[in-house]
Amino acid sequence: MPPSSEIQFSSAELLDRNFVNYKPRLAFDGDTVDAWRDWRTQLLPELREQLGPFPDEAFPLNPRIVSTEAYDRCTIYKVIYYSRAEVAIPAYLSIPKGVTTKTPAVLCIHGHVPGGKASVISGNGQFGAPYGRDLAEQGVITLCPDNAGMGERAHPSGGCDFLWRRLNYLGYDLTGYRVYDLMRGVDYLQSLPEVDERQIGIAGLSGGCWLGIVHAALDERVRAAVLSGYFTTFAQTSWFGHCICHHPKGIGELCELPDIAGLIAPRPIFVEWGTGDVSRPVHPAFEMAQRIYRAANAGDQITLQEFDAGHLFSGEQSLPWLIQTLSRK
Ligand SMILES: [Zn+2]
Repeated sequence: MPPSSEIQFSSAELLDRNFVNYKPRLAFDGDTVDAWRDWRTQLLPELREQLGPFPDEAFPLNPRIVSTEAYDRCTIYKVIYYSRAEVAIPAYLSIPKGVTTKTPAVLCIHGHVPGGKASVISGNGQFGAPYGRDLAEQGVITLCPDNAGMGERAHPSGGCDFLWRRLNYLGYDLTGYRVYDLMRGVDYLQSLPEVDERQIGIAGLSGGCWLGIVHAALDERVRAAVLSGYFTTFAQTSWFGHCICHHPKGIGELCELPDIAGLIAPRPIFVEWGTGDVSRPVHPAFEMAQRIYRAANAGDQITLQEFDAGHLFSGEQSLPWLIQTLSRK
């Protein structure tokens, strides 16, 4: 036994010493369609299990419009619908002016900000383009709900941490809990007569990017995704900090974050990253996901735009890409 002065007592530092050789159990490690298919068949149900439990039956949405604001290019409704029994979701539904036919729709997932849904409708530019409103003004229906623990769904005692404690106590995962709400958002969009139910996309910044990756992986109704500002690895983020809501229990034993993005293949994704956003690096996550897309014979369905800015949603290339992708029949 070494002298006590040389013994390492810090638990976290001990883990760090072994982490360099760490490899998740179901990290993708192939290059053929068969390897991709086999891997996906294993990872998808395990991921779903890890993020659950999910309700067996969908609770009636019971949607209601509570206010209406008309603007030049779109009308913004404040709506409420139910995700689970007694779980009401407040959201902004934006319908472009003059919509007469079935129209593509985008679920706009807000980032890790206290203001929640307001940031994607009336943002002050701090987090870049207010994509919920920009898309609606360009002819796409958008739905911007509050994520659990944020916006109107926050608690005076705190957001993620406080909610995480209570959900964890009851055996729920906060990411899975939020992603289920997003799935119900798609249910709501598909219930609207104006929405083309086959042309639904998602867009998300930061925490909304993380949730969007998981949502699109689990929900095949998501046809295309813009993923901005959190297309990274757990090893470069969760290992060092970031919010507890970004890493479900045991997720690193199962897979890396780009593996989850790879589950979206062959559906198209557009990744954005500001090169100044150094605490959420897109490399090597993008290349890891790209390898999965290539194995799935969908290498042309994953795109990266890097731009000269920090942690914000650009939209310069991604929003036209999303509109075009969802307009294709
Ligand atoms: Zn959080």
